[in-house]
Formats: sequence, C-alpha cells, structure tokens
Amino acid sequence: MQIKRNIKYESELDKEFIKEVASMYGGEEVYNCIQCGTCSGTCPISLYMDYTPRRIMAMIRSGFKDEVLKSFTIWLCSSCYSCTVQCPMNIKITDIMYALKRMAIEENICPRKFPIPVLAREFTKMVRNYGRINEGRLTTKLFFKSNPFKIFNYSNLGMKLFKLGRIKLMPETIKNPKEIKTLLKGLEGKK
Ligand code: SF4
Ligand code: SF4
Repeated sequence: MQIKRNIKYESELDKEFIKEVASMYGGEEVYNCIQCGTCSGTCPISLYMDYTPRRIMAMIRSGFKDEVLKSFTIWLCSSCYSCTVQCPMNIKITDIMYALKRMAIEENICPRKFPIPVLAREFTKMVRNYGRINEGRLTTKLFFKSNPFKIFNYSNLGMKLFKLGRIKLMPETIKNPKEIKTLLKGLEGKK
C-alpha cells in the first residue's frame, strides 16, 4: 500500500499568521495554548471537523495559514462556547474561530460552494441592501449558490411556509436602508 504524505516545507509556512490572529479580537491569548486537547475533547462537532480545535491552535502557531483558512472546521464551529469555558489557559477559542471566518471571507479563500460561508455572505449582503432578511430569498440563493438540486428536497416545506405567510417572495426593506450602509461602513472603519 502506498502511503501518501503532504509535506509542507518550513519556508512555505506563514510566520506572520499567528501575529495576525493575535491582533484580532479574542486572539490575544493564542500564544498560551499548551496543546492539552480539552477544547477538542469538549467540542460536540470535532468528530465532523477536518482539524480539531486543538489542531487549529497548533496550526496557527506553526503558520499553516492556507490550511486553516480553507478548512471546514472554522465553518462547522457552532459557537457553543464549550471549548472557551473549559480551556485552562482562558483562550477565547470561539472568538478565534470567528476571527478566522472573517479573515477567510476577506481573503476570499473559503471552501467553494460549502453552504455555511455562502449563507454568511448572502445574509450580510441582504442586511446591507435592505436592512432586513427575507428567508425565502435567502434560502433560494443559498441553494442556488451551493447545491441547486437540494432545493427539491425542501420544496414542499417551502410551499407550506409560503401558504402560511411565513415566507414572502418580495424583499422587505426598512425606511432608510442607506442608514444601515453608513452604520456598517462606520463599523468597518471606512469613511
Ligand atoms: S483547551 Fe486551550 S490550552 Fe488546551 S489545547 Fe485547547 S486552546 Fe490549547
Ligand atoms: S465553540 Fe466551536 S470549536 Fe468550540 S466547542 Fe463549540 S463548536 Fe467546538
């Protein structure tokens, strides 16, 4: 049997990655990880992750930026905060996961067609444009941009919700959507 190994050379590692993470909200303590594995042991989703939370901390420290930002782990994290509560070094692992998600979106290196980043992007776009979420349009966009065939599995449910008036086709908007754009620009530090 042939053993396949992916080797990454020292020179290919991004030594600045840990500094980038440490400079983001919640990331300050990342240097203190003792690799005890408590976070992975307590994480209810770690079974489905490509890298466990402990491994993500080790990869940040070693400079595996590409692998971390392309991982499914950061998108599978359900923000339950169990790891953060249990970490003996008070590392804000959940906040770090959020920081990594932001970084992956900004650098446009999310896993392609994986539904969670698609949902995050469409959700934000809708808030920015209308100030409100339209569930019907959001789920339709989500399916079309991730897996269009899946829409057939949910068509009956969609029809039922539509008949009950729980989802609307036309987008609703707030009185002055420009205010939301100004607010978001302010949060992003833009003029
Ligand atoms: S629980 Fe905290 S110290 Fe232990 S591996 Fe996870 S992040 Fe590191
Ligand atoms: S916050 Fe995320 S990484 Fe931490 S235990 Fe919950 S799902 Fe796992």
